[in-house]
Formats: sequence, structure tokens, C-alpha cells
Amino acid sequence: MKNIKDYNLEELKKEMQEIGEKPFRAEQIFKWLYQEKVKSFNEMTNLSLELRKKLEENYSICNFKIIKKQESKDGTIKYLFDVLDGNAIETVLMSYHHGYSICISSQIGCKMGCKFCASTGINFIRNLTSGEIVEQLLAVEQDTGVRISNIVFMGIGEPLDNYENVVNSIRIINNPKGLNIGARHISISTSGLVPKIYKLSEENIPCTLSISLHATNNEKRSNMMPVNNTYPIEELIQACKDYIAKTNRRISFEYALAKDNNDNLEDAKELVKLLKGMLCHVNLIPINKIENGKFDKSSNENIMKFRDYLNDHGIVATIRRELGSDIDAACGQLRRKNLKE
Ligand code: SAH
Repeated sequence: MKNIKDYNLEELKKEMQEIGEKPFRAEQIFKWLYQEKVKSFNEMTNLSLELRKKLEENYSICNFKIIKKQESKDGTIKYLFDVLDGNAIETVLMSYHHGYSICISSQIGCKMGCKFCASTGINFIRNLTSGEIVEQLLAVEQDTGVRISNIVFMGIGEPLDNYENVVNSIRIINNPKGLNIGARHISISTSGLVPKIYKLSEENIPCTLSISLHATNNEKRSNMMPVNNTYPIEELIQACKDYIAKTNRRISFEYALAKDNNDNLEDAKELVKLLKGMLCHVNLIPINKIENGKFDKSSNENIMKFRDYLNDHGIVATIRRELGSDIDAACGQLRRKNLKE
């Protein structure tokens, strides 16, 4: 059965026409799903009983089940969701002074193979559908009653490797008749799929693009991120420059600092050279050590020196606050699960 949450508003209007209904029914359904946040067709009380029955018979509504919920000392909450096909994914809710942010997954597993990340390495299962991407937000809002204001595609998976579904989920999230969260409150993080960066620049979606850079030369970056063998740094930086020129939007570069690997002043110098003159911001992440991982966290002192060097040389850099590391909810710590194993 088709998941009703997979449709953006335009598609749902067409779908309604196809089943012999007026297109405005789609707007009503959108309102129930994304504003009232109901969990069944039966609760959509301004639709006739007959239509509710028809919807019930033809569409699923995809309410994830919470398998596990863990709360960190800092207030971060990590959910393990049953995505209803025997697989499970993680989603994280973070509380900041400016509101609530959600870190959502885009795939069940990941193909990228980054050496420092726990989301990969285990088999890739499949892409999440757009409805399943949106459902993470709905399920968290339903469970906590909070209103989420920011979304980061930084959970499990490579969002640009599930391009169509991610873009469609953003259209559902953006729609004023739906969740009504503006693209400016959405960040997409990518390990650097160059052709998809060009494609995204054409979409007219003013979200923030974050690039997982992590190293300044190809040898080092390939050692951390196999994707660099396909799309080396020069091509990635060129794509970023074109993205900025086209969208006039600032790119955020993520740089996870690992002890004695990419955290000394030589690296900072190379990073300044690489990014000089670009409309960008650097987000420094103290690397989280993962099981059997070969990268260790840099010392706080090194991280601060690195940041200061960048700031002193014209590159705006901040250190990302580590949230939820006590419940394995921090960057790089999320994993998929198979419920049948
Ligand atoms: N696949 C996407 C989005 C997921 S990860 C990407 O690669 O960008 C979100 C961020 O966390 C990325 O910058 C990623 O490189 C970083 N990350 C992964 N593992 C990490 C770890 N162990 N410590 C710190 N950051 C990590």
C-alpha cells in the first residue's frame, strides 16, 4: 500500500483526482497529517465516512513505533524507531536556546564507508521514502509535544545518495499547509557527492548545505572517506564554489578533529588556503571515537588552537557543541538495527 505521507501537496492533489475526489481534499488531508498530527484517517472528521474508508483501504499512514527512547544528561533525546519493515533507525531531538532541532536519518545504513562513522560499515539496506523521512519529525513531535524549528539531515545515511526522496521530503516539510518549516531552517550534510551538489544548486531550495570535509589534501581525506577517491577535493571545492555563486548561500564545512591526524596547525594553514575567499563557515567537531575506530578525539586545547588559527586568518569557525554523547547520540554514533537479528 502507498504511504500517504510520501506525497507532496501537488502530488496528493493529483492522486485525489485519480481516485475521483476534489483536489482540495489533499489540503484537508495535509492539514490533518502535518498540523493536527493525527495518526489515523478516522480522525479526519471533515472528510466523509465514505472517503475516510476509501483512504483507509488504499493508503497506509506509516506511524513509526518507538522501540527505545533514551534521554541524555544534557536533555538530548535519542529515538530508535521501528520503520515497520523489520528495520530500525535512529533520530535525535536536541534542545538549543533558539528552539528544538531534529537530526534525521535519510537511509537505512549507509554506503559511504567513512572510517570514523558508526552509521556505515554494516550493510546498506535501503533508502527511506520521503514519508519515512517526514515521519521522524512527526513521531518526535507527537511523542514530546514540542514544536521543532530546525532540521538537520545528519543522521544515518548520505542524503544526496537518496536525492529524490530527500528533496521531496523538504517540499512536504516546507509547505505552509504542511509542517511549514522554511528551507532556511534545514541543513543537508553531504560527504561530497559532487554531481548531486550541482543538481541541488538548481532546485531553488534555500537550505544550508554542509560539506563533510575533514581533511585538506586527498591523501588524508581518502584515508578517512573513501568517497574522496571518486570525488577528490579539487572537484568538491569547485562544486562548492559554483553552488555559492549560483545560490548566493553560505556553505558550512564540517571538520571533525582527530588527534595527530588532521588537527595540527599545518592542517589549519592548509584549510585557510583551501577556503580563502569563499562564502563559508567552518564547523569544528571533536571527533567521537567509535567502536574499533582508529581515530581519537583531539585535545580541547588543540581544538581551540585550531579554531583560533582559522578565525585569526579570516575563516569564521566555531566548535560544535557535543550533545548526547552519553547516550551515543552524538555525531557519527547513530546506527541502523535489524529487529529480526
Ligand atoms: N552522510 C552525511 C550526513 C551524516 S553525518 C555526511 O557525511 O555529511 C553528519 C556529520 O557527522 C558529518 O559531517 C560526519 O562526517 C560527522 N561525523 C561522522 N562520524 C563522526 C564522528 N565519529 N565524530 C564526529 N563527527 C562525525
